[in-house]
Amino acid sequence: MRIGFFGGVREIGGNIILIEDKGSGIVFDFGRRFASSFTFFNNTIVGRPQKGFSDYTELGELPPFNSFYNTPKEVNNPLDIKIGGVFFSHAHLDHIGNINLIKEIMPKYMSKYSMSILKYFVQFGIIKNMPQNTNIIEDEITLGNFKVKPFFVDHDVPGAVAYIIETPKGTVIYTGDLYFQGIEKEKTLNFVSYAKSLKPYLLISEGTRIGWGGITSLTEDELQEEIIRCVITFKGLAIGNVYEPHISRILSFYKVARNLGRKLVMTETYAFALVELAIANNAIAKEIIDSKETFIYSSKKLLDDWEAPLKNKFVDANFVNTEQENIILLLNYTNIPELLDIKPKSGAIYIQSGGEPIANIDTHNTKIQENWINYFKMPFFRIHSPGHASEVEILNMVKEINPEILLPIHTQIPERFAMIFERTKILDKGNLYEF
Ligand SMILES: [Zn+2]
Ligand SMILES: [Zn+2]
Repeated sequence: MRIGFFGGVREIGGNIILIEDKGSGIVFDFGRRFASSFTFFNNTIVGRPQKGFSDYTELGELPPFNSFYNTPKEVNNPLDIKIGGVFFSHAHLDHIGNINLIKEIMPKYMSKYSMSILKYFVQFGIIKNMPQNTNIIEDEITLGNFKVKPFFVDHDVPGAVAYIIETPKGTVIYTGDLYFQGIEKEKTLNFVSYAKSLKPYLLISEGTRIGWGGITSLTEDELQEEIIRCVITFKGLAIGNVYEPHISRILSFYKVARNLGRKLVMTETYAFALVELAIANNAIAKEIIDSKETFIYSSKKLLDDWEAPLKNKFVDANFVNTEQENIILLLNYTNIPELLDIKPKSGAIYIQSGGEPIANIDTHNTKIQENWINYFKMPFFRIHSPGHASEVEILNMVKEINPEILLPIHTQIPERFAMIFERTKILDKGNLYEF
């Protein structure tokens, strides 16, 4: 059996993992790299279309998979491996963002909430097209010599799974991204005890927060208390910037609004994500979107089809401007120019609670955001908690699961794992390792 890592090596995000046995392969995640990791290409310099994806595979930016890409031209010098399917751990762009590069007939598997969030990405052009042959995975499925089973874990997006892969060489476990302080932390704790009971051969573990030092985790309850303290101090409009798929954080702002007797107003991007999750029976999404105190902000005149059943919830800038002391407003980074119509009064505050810009790896956008907030003279608060296990939590998890071999990915400092776990293998990008 061979395993290759084509993304997420010495970087956070962009995960692409190939597991192969006797010429048949399966792939886990097909993520987009964060802009801070761009090496040869960016939004201006792109590969030459007439070469298919060969410019990318030649430079190690994409894996040289055969008969895999959504282009008639095969890549140069492809691996002689037939890939049977791609399994997505969760719907964050660094795991799912390049799904459109995969050819339509390739089977793709993800949880039902990941599918809801994929629809949100497509609706707002973040992912170009809804991919074909996308299947919901709930139970174990067999592909060639592999049996693949999803195991739900907590993360800052609903529907995140780890994968348990039965291979001819033993059990391989891929953690995906996970979190121990969220509202569904039981899932992650259950995963750890289950993974340990399997005595796995290989554990492929995320390590996002390795080396992040002083950043601590706050529970959602602690975050709510902090948000409430800020809102009651300044008394004006409270604007929260949250990532749309981060439903437990949206729930926190919803609870703050309920607690303070305020209305929760959100842009259409949040509403669409909630509607899709509610259709997939997500109880939290249903509660928030169905509440009489939840409203949708829009500056346009005509409603889309999905919005029509919610038409009584729609409010405009005038409503928010007049009612601002009674509103918690969820406004994402992209929609920040709406503030020109909303006209925040003195006492309005801006709370960064995840979402774009992504902290210190996104300095350019952080500066733009800062300029907007200063223009409106709003106090700025960063009230956030990362959706990943802390360094100590992840290292203890690894010791607890105790695999025969540990393979760290999605981390800038894989060596840190080797300090506490002897059987750690430090990976190079693009190599195929024999296991
Ligand atoms: Zn990730
Ligand atoms: Zn993630």
